[in-house]
Amino acid sequence: MTAPIRTTCPYCGVGCGVLATPRNGHVEISGDAEHPANGGRLCSKGSALGDTLGADDRLLHPHIGDRRVEWDEALNHVASAFTRIIAEHGADAVALYVSGQLLTEDYYVANKFVKGYLGTANIDTNSRLCMASAVAGHKRAFGADLVPGCYEDFDLADLIVLVGSNAAWCHPVIYQRIARARERRPQMKVVVIDPRHTPTCELADLHLPVKAGSDVALFAGLLAFLHRNGCMDTRFVAEHTLNVTETLAAAIQAADHVAKTCGIDSARLQQFYELFARTERVITAFSMGVNQSSAGTDKVNSIINCHLLTGRIGRPGMGPFSITGQPNAMGGREAGGLANALAAHMELENAQHRDIVQRFWGSPRIASRGGSKAVDLFEAIHAGRIKAVWIMATNPVVSLPDADRVRAALRGCELVVVSDCVARTDTLDLAHVRLPAAAWGEKDGTVTNSERRISRQRAFLFPPGEARPDWWAITEVAKRMGFVDGFAFESAHEIFVEHAALSDTQNEGTRAFDIGGLATLTREEYDALAPIQWPVPTKAHAGTARMLTNARFFYSDGKARFIPTPPAAPRHATDENFPLVLNTGRIRDQWHTMTRTGRAARLAEHLPEPYLDMHAQDALLAGVRDGELARVSSRWGSAAARVRTSGEMARGAVFMPIHWSAANASDARVGAVVNPVVDAISGEPEFKHTPARVEPLRVDWHGVLFTREPIARLDTTWWTCVSGDGFVRYELGGRHARTRPETACDRQSWARELLRAVSADADYLDYVDSGSGVYRGAHVIDNRLAACLCIAPTPQLPSRSWLASLFAQSMLDDTDRRSLLAGRPLKAAADAGPTVCSCFRVGRNTIQAAIERHGLTTAAQVGEEVKAGTNCGSCLPEIRQLLATPAIKNS
Ligand code: SF4
Repeated sequence: MTAPIRTTCPYCGVGCGVLATPRNGHVEISGDAEHPANGGRLCSKGSALGDTLGADDRLLHPHIGDRRVEWDEALNHVASAFTRIIAEHGADAVALYVSGQLLTEDYYVANKFVKGYLGTANIDTNSRLCMASAVAGHKRAFGADLVPGCYEDFDLADLIVLVGSNAAWCHPVIYQRIARARERRPQMKVVVIDPRHTPTCELADLHLPVKAGSDVALFAGLLAFLHRNGCMDTRFVAEHTLNVTETLAAAIQAADHVAKTCGIDSARLQQFYELFARTERVITAFSMGVNQSSAGTDKVNSIINCHLLTGRIGRPGMGPFSITGQPNAMGGREAGGLANALAAHMELENAQHRDIVQRFWGSPRIASRGGSKAVDLFEAIHAGRIKAVWIMATNPVVSLPDADRVRAALRGCELVVVSDCVARTDTLDLAHVRLPAAAWGEKDGTVTNSERRISRQRAFLFPPGEARPDWWAITEVAKRMGFVDGFAFESAHEIFVEHAALSDTQNEGTRAFDIGGLATLTREEYDALAPIQWPVPTKAHAGTARMLTNARFFYSDGKARFIPTPPAAPRHATDENFPLVLNTGRIRDQWHTMTRTGRAARLAEHLPEPYLDMHAQDALLAGVRDGELARVSSRWGSAAARVRTSGEMARGAVFMPIHWSAANASDARVGAVVNPVVDAISGEPEFKHTPARVEPLRVDWHGVLFTREPIARLDTTWWTCVSGDGFVRYELGGRHARTRPETACDRQSWARELLRAVSADADYLDYVDSGSGVYRGAHVIDNRLAACLCIAPTPQLPSRSWLASLFAQSMLDDTDRRSLLAGRPLKAAADAGPTVCSCFRVGRNTIQAAIERHGLTTAAQVGEEVKAGTNCGSCLPEIRQLLATPAIKNS
């Protein structure tokens, strides 16, 4: 039997330990019970990792243009182009744009190459989009970028304040940890601060639906309240901090009218302030809702100020806690992946740090000023100042704000090199050179999670085709540019120990990031490295669960800084043309632009379409209805999605997920709508606040198409697709002008043509109701369903879960055929409904039927009856919602 390989999940910043066991051509995945971050638990995304592997849709070979080339030719091409462009235009004319998906070793080599050898600081990372404000806030307050606490603090706290964090969906294993802690310790309270009523609110004793962008006012008000009510830890403040007087003055000035500024009920506000004031063990955990703002850094410091004032930091069960979005956003920070940082958490602006790093590397030069941060970097490409860019493991044409401008920038760029593990992304479509990268399970290295825990990602598969690790591709280009000595790495281990040694160089406890104790790891020790939290200053050191325990901060005087945070309105305000505020974020079962999670059929079943969530009253005013298509537009661009009036949104706000791209939808890149405003200090974009409007997307018909194979081109007004088990599912919307059929009769001919195009040589059955404009057709080959298409003038179409189940059948019987023509299952219990539990693929209808039949009243009883919610627990909020609401049959 193959022994399981211990590795780490490649998705969110929780950093869960995973056991991967290759067996019979598949990889079995389970949680690593020995990993302290998750104790064996995984969320739906982590549990489905085995379904995302394989060589299908992978980029297998290097290409220059459309021509497949040898690695040698591709690397020579990149190296000579970079050399020529630098000679002609200077080092700032080239850039790297990398990713929180890279391993620390990739990051370290990329940063060394750019800052130490090319001599520019034009390297930035997509982590800029999720946590740069936390970095800047930490540095301003503590003198170093560090998260003081650890996950164990969530077990010990008496109050957990979750700010701008839908942890139930975005960091599910932390959310479940909080839920379990509260079951054990009923005195624990949870407050959720979020403009949306998200699934995370299920756990909340108190939800404050603040207006987007008003958090600074909320926490300034709290600071003033704590001071007024005698909660200041006078000794701590006097001995360990500076700037309290001016910070309090600014807070007191801002504290008037907080409830009005935040748009919340003053009694609830008072309740929160009193709860915070009287609870010693309080954690304020924050995530993208805080960071992704034009005032993101001030938001972070307004939170930290409250913990400094009360001295609630560096002790068990308390402190500010940044929950990072990406698996290695922290590792990227450590290795200097940001355009304003050096390796090992040293500062680019600090001459002594530059000297330490350059001497250590023995590099010919060192960048002497900050490079372009993500949004500015693509603006510099657009302006022609950056002429060559190498993009690794990220898809900026989808993920950056003002994404149409990013696309235009890359279209006009002289050289676009993209390293990726998949064959097609919106960004790869614009690449001049495509380099195949090793994927999760094939590469080796380390990642650091939100609690500073360094864990190994280990390879357990051979990379397919000619895919290679990113660090290898960088070293090969560097050598071809003449930098042989600095890049003679043969393994991830050699890179890691160099990074560890640099962190220790001339440190003497002056810099927070010190993993010098890992600098002498042998290859075997590195391979066996157990998860460990930095700092690790000596080899005998077991790692550091909590920092700042001695209240000594990393400014030279050892004191923390209070930072005055005057509230400021978001840069762009709503007006009569754009009266709504667009907010964006993640959904439960998808990751970023779906290049990996999109491969797992069970993850696609939960929310298979891009949606636009809005208040029912706003929908009414905009002339759109639940289930219909709508277009959301801003001054920067537009996207289309299906309207949902789920009850999560406050008046005046809309929400759209970030995951859809041109690869899986005709028009649902929400990045194109998002304004490119950034925080002036951190450079993090304002993804949570774009003035927007919503209008109906008029279509004359709606459709759903299932095929066995993807369709190369669909010329309908609107489409989106997901992969299922043995099929691809398309949702369609059409207008006469674009799809040609002018009448129901034409539409029927068009539908037949489309079906013939996707599955020729099949038996077909179809049903036409010319009067109502309904068409249902199916193609059958060897008695198995090959394709089916249903069209109607309204979005009410047959159940997708039922149609999907027909594709899994080895043969169709007469009742199935009649059901297809009728557009509904004629067999009892044939429709499980849309998926609620991805782990066990349990549908809503199944759960509702069990609730009704057995009179179930708790999620635990549902779990016993139908298994739903008994693995990762990500679906428990939805199961509880089903228990609380009457049955609604829906597809
Ligand atoms: S919470 Fe889920 S996505 Fe995040 S690391 Fe754990 S298993 Fe992966």
